[in-house]
Amino acid sequence: MKKAALHNLGCKVNAYETEAMQEMLEKAGYEIVPFQEGADVYIINTCTVTNIADRKSRQMLHRARKMNPDAIVVAAGCYVQAQEGKQETDPCIDIVIGNNHKKDLVRILEEYEQKKGQGKDGEDALRDIEDISRTREYEDLHLGKPGDHTRAYIKVQDGCNQFCTYCIIPYARGRVRSRSMDDVVREVEDLAENGYKEVVLTGIHLSSYGIDFDGERHLLPLIRAVHAVDGIERIRLGSLEPNIITEEFAREISRMPKMCPHFHLSLQSGCDATLKRMNRRYTSAEYYEKCCILRKYFENPALTTDVIVGFPGETQEEFEESLAFVDRVNFYETHIFKYSRREGTKAAVMPDQIDEKVKAQRSARMIALGEQKQRAYEQSFIGKEVEVLIEEDALIDGKMMQTGHTKEYMKIALEKKENLKNCVIKVQIDSDLQIIH
Ligand code: SF4
Repeated sequence: MKKAALHNLGCKVNAYETEAMQEMLEKAGYEIVPFQEGADVYIINTCTVTNIADRKSRQMLHRARKMNPDAIVVAAGCYVQAQEGKQETDPCIDIVIGNNHKKDLVRILEEYEQKKGQGKDGEDALRDIEDISRTREYEDLHLGKPGDHTRAYIKVQDGCNQFCTYCIIPYARGRVRSRSMDDVVREVEDLAENGYKEVVLTGIHLSSYGIDFDGERHLLPLIRAVHAVDGIERIRLGSLEPNIITEEFAREISRMPKMCPHFHLSLQSGCDATLKRMNRRYTSAEYYEKCCILRKYFENPALTTDVIVGFPGETQEEFEESLAFVDRVNFYETHIFKYSRREGTKAAVMPDQIDEKVKAQRSARMIALGEQKQRAYEQSFIGKEVEVLIEEDALIDGKMMQTGHTKEYMKIALEKKENLKNCVIKVQIDSDLQIIH
């Protein structure tokens, strides 16, 4: 039996695709082994979101080659897609598979082996890659049993039409392509049958789900359809663009009992001038209004976000504005990124790039504020009852505990008296010690 090892880099969408490729290989008779073992085939699902991600992708490809010089090394995904046409393929790679061709992995491997058998494998890697900006079809990948046994991430959409000035993703992932609603529902039904209680709808730009069908957004009908699947107890949404939040959207989803009151709205900056340079399509006032709408329909929802500090041209005043805005919103979690210059984007060549030291100072202040807000949010639950989906065992301070997440995505630890894995239970938060990070 041939052995295959896979390694994923990057986001949840990539992780989904890696697991889908793993399932395809298993069905085709491969034995899946850990990355360390001497496999016959190594698949690296690469990422290109930052220059560091590029470097890590290259490192993993080289590591795979070192582990078994005779193995077939496959480079798939965003890094090779964004590199297309720019440079010679790295000699340690045998097969290059661009985005939208991962579904063909098994066929491509067979083709490669055939050529090799005929002594036709030259120095050139076998390439299956196309101009992603012209691709209009959603790549048909399916996942029946994700690795995480309680929460399943489901990819419902690919690509992005936004072109934020700092982001390379639209070049690596192409334009918005959405998965058919029927196909999503079929996958959710399979997952429910396999015992999964929670699904997370995810995509590169989830808010754009369905605009390639008829120009309209279809995220709300998709959520309704997923909500109707028996056996699923929780629905969580991946990162959302603030503009998707309307009175109607919030009202409708608040009426769905399975909906988790946890919304990740990407902010990136709380300063309007910076948002404009980023080509984000909202103002801080509009963003704030969206948070108010969510708070009107959900009781104490967890609002989480991403913020970039040190974007080109960000003056001290602009940063202070951004910080004050983050302070005003009261997020549960704020993920802070120091702006990192991504070759091939508009922001990379903008004037007034910010000194690394200044970025580090701004980041430290934003992190401190984020932590303070997180504590305040968690403390607002003391004395309250929450629902926890128990996920795994963990040894904490020498004690065997069970951990899981609330609907708001707070991680809770409970003493293990009986095995409650994959059960949704109600607990009262009586001290902040139950919440772990
Ligand atoms: S919305 Fe902006 S940041 Fe997100 S993937 Fe699209 S271009 Fe990148």
